[in-house]
Amino acid sequence: MSFCVVGAGFSGAIIARHLAERGHKVTVVDERPHIGGNCHTERDAETGVMVHKYGPHIFHTADQRAWDYVQRFGAFKPYVNRVKAISQGRVYTLPVNLLTINQFFGTTMGPKEARAFIEGKADKTITNPRSFEEQALSMIGPELYRAFFYGYTRKQWGLEPTELPASILKRLPLRFNYDDNYFNHPYQGMPEEGYTAIVQNILNVEGIDLRLGCSFESLEEKFQHVFYTGPIDRFFQFKLGRLGYRTLDFERFVDEGDHQGTAVINYCDENVPFTRISEHKHFAPWEQDKFSKTVCFREYSRLAGEKDVPYYPIRLVNEKQMLESYIGLARAEKGVSFLGRLGTYRYLDMDVTITEALAACDRIDAALQAKELDLPAFFVDPD
Ligand code: FAD
Ligand code: UDP
Repeated sequence: MSFCVVGAGFSGAIIARHLAERGHKVTVVDERPHIGGNCHTERDAETGVMVHKYGPHIFHTADQRAWDYVQRFGAFKPYVNRVKAISQGRVYTLPVNLLTINQFFGTTMGPKEARAFIEGKADKTITNPRSFEEQALSMIGPELYRAFFYGYTRKQWGLEPTELPASILKRLPLRFNYDDNYFNHPYQGMPEEGYTAIVQNILNVEGIDLRLGCSFESLEEKFQHVFYTGPIDRFFQFKLGRLGYRTLDFERFVDEGDHQGTAVINYCDENVPFTRISEHKHFAPWEQDKFSKTVCFREYSRLAGEKDVPYYPIRLVNEKQMLESYIGLARAEKGVSFLGRLGTYRYLDMDVTITEALAACDRIDAALQAKELDLPAFFVDPD
């Protein structure tokens, strides 16, 4: 059979490989000049440093299947994401942990004392936090919220934290020990040769016709089924309107040696226009001494315009209503399945993207075995 996969990020590459391995012809298109989607990595021409072109990407997961899968296609080096944050002229560690609390309040508390202290600050009248702000006030109290989250969140989302869902903050841990690992997952690492090399190896199988710099809209051939990992509203020519996204602007600069001493520093104050600076040589500590220069990026967040790369789906009330309508159109459409972060308009970490693509492959196998290509519009509910 002949299939089309739109997008050569993790979602598209995994589906394409799976179909090709089963002897089908797969055309993979991506309008960008490279594979890897938003996880794309490349060597910076001036410094030689491996750069995460669309922002820092750290692989972390609790899913054994996703972890085993990526490791088949490239070696991962151990890497622990430790984020620093600057607030009101001082440096702290994130996520909020015992060091953050003690440094911020000028105390020397132990875990039990600190827990009681923060509980004393937390707003107990909020029992069911509905907004980001309510979540923060009920979790850490007003001082830490103001210092680390209020300004940063306004810069990141362009909205008041009272307008944002509690779920955005819920993904960050709060710890009453000195563990400053940003993630709670058991597996965490960085691909030795970058993410693009992993995706390259996934796509390296007979039967895949990869066309870069090629948009789906420009294709004239017909396919038995299309797997679409581009933006769902774009598939329907935005006929119901555009789903809102935040985009990022990166301001590159080069320095000698080591610029900031770590990979990521967040700038939490509102009067600093960028959200964070990432210094990419620190994402590859095993090779950082090889480079005499260093390359860094200041990151600015703003509402995505029509020509911008979509990064973070906003998913507020208006977008959710529009999404509902697009989901309706997608379910009525024959011969196309939507997946990935753009196809389902959800923020997805890489591991979730991979887990979902592998589950889609299981579903595809069942359909192929039944010799009926009744594939669903979505493999997971995008609501
Ligand atoms: P994408 O990578 O977006 O790939 C979709 C591809 O489709 C793109 O290459 C695009 O060019 C192409 N395309 C779209 N429409 C068309 C069309 N019509 N025709 C042709 N081509 C088309 N995850 C983590 O696990 N850890 C992290 O640290 C992390 N950091 C992140 C930081 C930022 C700033 C962002 C925004 C995301 C981060 N992520 C992280 C999430 C990660 O980027 C996603 O999980 C991953 O990119 C999803 O892969 P995908 O294949 O679904 O989509
Ligand atoms: N956040 C913040 N200050 C920080 C780090 C995070 O206010 O120093 C908020 C911000 O709103 C962000 C959310 O917490 O969107 C979730 O943080 P995470 O690190 O998961 O952000 P992402 O990876 O989505 O950029």
